[in-house]
Amino acid sequence: MTTIEIGDPAREVLNQAPPLQPANLFELDGPLQEALDREGGDWGADLAREAGAIAGSVEATQHGRRAERNEPRLTTHDRYGNRIDAVELDPSWHWLLGGAVSRSIHSLPWREPQPGAHVVRAAMFMLWSNADAGVMCPVSMTYAAVPALRDAAPDLAAEWEPRLTAPDYAQGALAGMAMTERQGGSDVRANITRAEPAGGDTYELHGHKWFCSYPPCAVFLVLAQVGGRDGLLSCFLVERGPGMEFQRLKDKLGTRSLPSSEVEFRGARARLVGEEGRGVPAIIRMVNHTRLDCLLGSTTSIRRGTLEAIHHARHRTVFGALLADQPAMRNVLADLALESEAATAAALRVTRAYDEPGEGAFRRFATAVMKYWVTKRAAPHAAEALECLGGNGFVEDSGMPLLYRDSPLNSIWEGSGNVAALDVLRAIIREPEGLPAFLAECELAAGAEPRLDAHLRDLRGRLEQAFAGGGSPEERLYESQFGARRLVEDLALALQGSLLVRHAPAAIADGFCAGRLGGDRGRVYGTLPAGVDAAAIIDRAVPA
Ligand SMILES: Cc1cc2nc3c(=O)[nH]c(=O)nc-3n(C[C@H](O)[C@H](O)[C@H](O)COP(=O)(O)OP(=O)(O)OC[C@H]3O[C@@H](n4cnc5c(N)ncnc54)[C@H](O)[C@@H]3O)c2cc1C
Repeated sequence: MTTIEIGDPAREVLNQAPPLQPANLFELDGPLQEALDREGGDWGADLAREAGAIAGSVEATQHGRRAERNEPRLTTHDRYGNRIDAVELDPSWHWLLGGAVSRSIHSLPWREPQPGAHVVRAAMFMLWSNADAGVMCPVSMTYAAVPALRDAAPDLAAEWEPRLTAPDYAQGALAGMAMTERQGGSDVRANITRAEPAGGDTYELHGHKWFCSYPPCAVFLVLAQVGGRDGLLSCFLVERGPGMEFQRLKDKLGTRSLPSSEVEFRGARARLVGEEGRGVPAIIRMVNHTRLDCLLGSTTSIRRGTLEAIHHARHRTVFGALLADQPAMRNVLADLALESEAATAAALRVTRAYDEPGEGAFRRFATAVMKYWVTKRAAPHAAEALECLGGNGFVEDSGMPLLYRDSPLNSIWEGSGNVAALDVLRAIIREPEGLPAFLAECELAAGAEPRLDAHLRDLRGRLEQAFAGGGSPEERLYESQFGARRLVEDLALALQGSLLVRHAPAAIADGFCAGRLGGDRGRVYGTLPAGVDAAAIIDRAVPA
């Protein structure tokens, strides 16, 4: 018989990183602090610090794990056969969502409109997303529903806004969105859900939605055709209740704490948002704000992966030296950190445009460009960050599998990769002020960094080539589609490069230009060229 005694080497835990929590995720994040300050949110530093402390606490981590483990359950009928459509959620879900609502992360700029409010809210959104990405879906949709209602249906806004913006989880209300149908998601014109006039300003909806996240929302903005198939595509507000029947919850790759459902409308009462036939412009106002949150959510994923990878590498010894001191690993960590710093700078710069009424053209264009790029970068970043932890990164306890599973979602939501890239092309042709406003922002760094100057020159040349030719706008749009992703990627890199050259320490700007602009570019993370100051980049991302 083998006896294991206290002090047995087999039981000694050696060469493992200590837990990261508790950590104040705001105080650890110098680039986020600086961006908050720079983009007009300096007055919100204490709010962000508080959110960062709680989101990085042991308690929040435990709630996040529990909400992911104890998945939501839909009960469609009671024991007697009556429809109840109730979703059972773990108490930890309510702790997490309630924490976001009580901090007004769903409503700050609408409740307290003041310069920098969107930026402060964005910083809190990013910090709170660390606790659980799933709860940020209803937070984001509620934030986004308010401007859509204000613009298109002021009477409905007046009726619902007090509850939608209240920092009160018990008494307030949340809003959802239902556009996607089985036969068409991105292509909303393929919708077949029917709206029948039912007297006064009300309609009845008949049809289905293939994705509808968070059934417990009090209201939903829904697209449907007045007059049936190929009718007038219109936007409606539907209160959850009779006639809105949830069929099942989706069995998803990630955000498993979040109930995402399929729903049928069987005569649900609806009120028009905007005019009949103007459903897309009405809901696009909402979508632009949720796209911003996709950008913020992926920025958090990239930041979190960077933080976890650097933390681990600073405590794990291999072949006689800390991982963080091994040259090949330093390249990987510095590359991950550059991605995080670039995403953070761009996310808050784009958000600032939501605070400034004169920046509408830049806001729309830059949101589309950066939503495409940063959400696309999140999944490979999460995979690489996970690998930095070796086998530990593949094990659930590390939190990295969760980060990895959640990471592709923001690129699918609200315009998948191609759709987002094509939106940018469409904006170049149809909204002639967007591209010049975007390029003007990039060129604020002109003359400061030759590699950025060369990138901008090349980009302008390719834009001219792609769009200057003859033919109708539709023909030009079609012809430029094959190169859409590459063009949008280079636009995104131009903005990130410009922001880092102007605002980041020299080592960051140099590393970004060396690794992302020009010909000497690797294809995976960890391929920065020689000469980059990896130590300075890593220490800035996570102070040693
Ligand atoms: C977890 C989750 C929650 C969701 N919640 C909601 C919700 O609450 N409400 C809601 O309405 N929807 C929701 N959705 C749906 C989501 O917004 C759609 O899945 C997404 O917009 C893509 O639409 P689709 O699935 O129909 O894909 P499709 O539109 O069929 O696209 C499939 C692929 O084709 C590409 N593609 C599309 N058009 C073109 C083109 N013209 N040229 C080249 N490529 C193209 C796309 O980029 C994509 O890669 C949710 C989805 C998920 C995964």
